[in-house]
Amino acid sequence: MDSTGQGRLIIISGPSGAGKSTVVRRLLQACELPLTLSVSATTRPPREGEVNGVDYLFMDQEEFDRRRAAGEFLECKEVFGLGYWYGTPRDQVATGLARGRWVVLEIDVQGALAILDREEFDPITLFIHPGGMEELELRLRNRETESEEVICARLETALAEMRYMHRYQYEVVNDSVDTAVAEICRILKQIKEQHPCSKS
Ligand code: 5GP
Repeated sequence: MDSTGQGRLIIISGPSGAGKSTVVRRLLQACELPLTLSVSATTRPPREGEVNGVDYLFMDQEEFDRRRAAGEFLECKEVFGLGYWYGTPRDQVATGLARGRWVVLEIDVQGALAILDREEFDPITLFIHPGGMEELELRLRNRETESEEVICARLETALAEMRYMHRYQYEVVNDSVDTAVAEICRILKQIKEQHPCSKS
């Protein structure tokens, strides 16, 4: 908890296929800080193995629009221009922060910028990327979960997202999951040491 009794907000972005989700999940297991993952809402259909309430809150467009109109999202964006919406539930973030948790948002650049523009949370921002576009394309193709159309759209978005890397405080190259996790944990612990009132 910091001096105001609140936790910290951590925003992690990076192009799709950069291995963000894997890194974030490992980070939550491996880092000793009181990290909590915010589970986003999405209109995207679940991929094989994804669990409602764990990976995402999966919902149809109508439900998403209803929640959006009710102001339930801290930010929400249509990611990739393919018609799928993603949103950060406001209550999860508020509850986590009030409990002194370090709440992790794994969100796209547009969502991150929307939060940064509000100058409300003093978030810690990290940008994860695989080093180069060739590597990214390889990873997206190896995943074999998306159609050619989706892969192309994601690569285009990735290029656009890389241009906003400078808006983030920390850049982490994910050439190995273990190294990236260790690096992020080290950064967060260093921040905590600089603000010793933060809850551990
Ligand atoms: P995927 O469909 O591969 O799980 O995620 C696609 C993209 O949506 C990723 O870049 C991810 O970071 C982003 N994303 C996930 N949840 C949210 C959210 O709540 N808000 C925003 N703006 N982007 C999100």
